Amino acid sequence: MVKNKDKQYSRETAIEQLKSNLIDELPPNAQISKVVFEGPFVVLYSLNPTALMENGDIVKGLAKSLRKRIVIRSDVSVRRVKDEAQARMLEIVPENAEITNMIFDDELGEVIIEAKKPGAVIGRSGATLREIYREISWRPKVVRSPPIQSQLIKSIRNTLTAESEKRKNALINIGKRIHRPKVIPDSYIRLTGLGGFSEVGRSCLLLETAETKVLIDCGTNVGSREPNQMFPHFNIAEFDIAEIDAVLVTHAHLDHSGLVPFLFKWGYRGPVYSNDATLSLMTLLQKDYIDVSEREGKLVPYNQRDIKQMILHTITRRYWEVTDLSNDIRLTMTPAGHILGSSIIHLHIGDGKYNLAIANDFKGKRKRSPTQLLDRANTRFPRLETMVLESTYGGPRDNTPRREDAERQLIKIINRTTSRGGKVLIPSLAVGRAQELMVVLAHYYKRREMIDVPVYLDGLIAEATAIHSCHPEYLSAHLQDQIFNEGNNPFLCEIFKTVSGQGERKSITGGSPSVIMATSEMLTGGNSVEYFKQLAEDDRNSIVFVSYQAEGTLGRRISSGVKEIRSIDDGRMNMMRVSMDIHQIDGFSGHSDRNEIMNFFRELSPKPERVILIHGQRNKSQSLAQAIGKRYHVKTDVPMNLETLRLN
Ligand SMILES: [Zn+2]
Repeated sequence: MVKNKDKQYSRETAIEQLKSNLIDELPPNAQISKVVFEGPFVVLYSLNPTALMENGDIVKGLAKSLRKRIVIRSDVSVRRVKDEAQARMLEIVPENAEITNMIFDDELGEVIIEAKKPGAVIGRSGATLREIYREISWRPKVVRSPPIQSQLIKSIRNTLTAESEKRKNALINIGKRIHRPKVIPDSYIRLTGLGGFSEVGRSCLLLETAETKVLIDCGTNVGSREPNQMFPHFNIAEFDIAEIDAVLVTHAHLDHSGLVPFLFKWGYRGPVYSNDATLSLMTLLQKDYIDVSEREGKLVPYNQRDIKQMILHTITRRYWEVTDLSNDIRLTMTPAGHILGSSIIHLHIGDGKYNLAIANDFKGKRKRSPTQLLDRANTRFPRLETMVLESTYGGPRDNTPRREDAERQLIKIINRTTSRGGKVLIPSLAVGRAQELMVVLAHYYKRREMIDVPVYLDGLIAEATAIHSCHPEYLSAHLQDQIFNEGNNPFLCEIFKTVSGQGERKSITGGSPSVIMATSEMLTGGNSVEYFKQLAEDDRNSIVFVSYQAEGTLGRRISSGVKEIRSIDDGRMNMMRVSMDIHQIDGFSGHSDRNEIMNFFRELSPKPERVILIHGQRNKSQSLAQAIGKRYHVKTDVPMNLETLRLN
């Protein structure tokens, strides 16, 4: 059998051929110094990059005829020295742009200009930007200065700058593999569930064609301590890490991204595709995951070095950009409406003969439960044969309560608790749910319907919020409008206070009435457990659960009414009486409920021939499969883990 690893024989000649074709086609004044495959791109290095910029149509035409993504970069030798380039930019850009930072990216030959007024850096029809490029030969990219700085984003940028040589080599190796010629005249497509089929947690799908093997998500089961339930089924014959061509990450939640660095510990050196918001958020959650596991004596599956490898191998793409994963699969990520950066993945296989979309966590149309943070999931695809859908809340009785009722209930609990001198603890996911609640609290506070008390954001939530404010382009159109046109950024509302350090936590639990948001959402670890221990015995306090509480978690026991909790602190057994008020509010979900999934399917265009339901309790997914099959006469499947479906 011919294995992927062995398909190298005619690769070098193919690259040489492509290079000479390109150089022949381009205007001579472009002065191409080299042509390199870097990841999915064909990169042309030019001694005179602005000449190519002015001939954009030629490059577009070439890309189209070659069916490759072409990127133009300035040759390193013509780029101005950074200090000089910086000084020149400050001369060119008018002062009223209020530049706050300039970050050089050696790998891309780009300079990111952070400015309070990006329009002033761009100039009329982009004139100022063009002038900058001509003068310094670093391609300028303008972003709005983020109102809250993220330490995590800074550290990712530092890693990429410090390791730019390694990064470049990694991309060149990946590029060789992507642009290899086709050798196997077969066209099967198979999908195997390594995790997250007929269950919620450890999502991991293996997609295989004769040419390519792709993993979609690689998550952990956060609530579980048993390795055989924590990890996807990596130990099957079809899964050989040396043969994986690409790893795609739908979104940052740990049940989808938590074990991506583990693949690197295991020796994977291929690409990870996601967008920049997902890269930032998953890095944050993975770092926290290993910190918390270490602190609590749980299995720590990888370390910081493996996370760094993941960052160096991650290729970020925006929504709607088309990317070659290999010689027979093209990837497009589109909005999923679930959390910041979450994507529905569309795969265009074998010259478009087969098209597959995967919505592994999505939020569809939301008449009853509109969310503020994000726009709804995309429902339109160029072509679609099979749709893979999550079905967490696909059961017949899964109806998310009306969003407005959920909001009013939350505000009522906060007002009642704080006016009797108590504190409200909201255990929350750091990413998504927490920011959704912040938008709600800021809104009611501004309307003076919420009592003026501080809302403390514990460490991880504050950092995740900073990341949201650095990627406003992924927020809902409504929220962007509110932030940029009305100057009303809910994340900057004065009620929010960031907590850092143990001492500060103590003074909060011992201090005046307040709201505290902390991770984890099911009290399975993290600071929410510490706050809970401090607050549980005082009957003036309240706890509000806003997420699903999984079987076996402390959150589940408390929300189901257990009043006596035993815990071991510093080796001593403690008994605690839970006297605080206990509430569960379900209306803030980032998932689609039964109706929303049906609505999503109704609007889905074109309609697929087949629907595969995953990421749900088996009975719920089966009930949903029946409903979809009956109404739309499509083939439905509810596979188990380790089952393989042949798609064509
Ligand atoms: Zn999720």
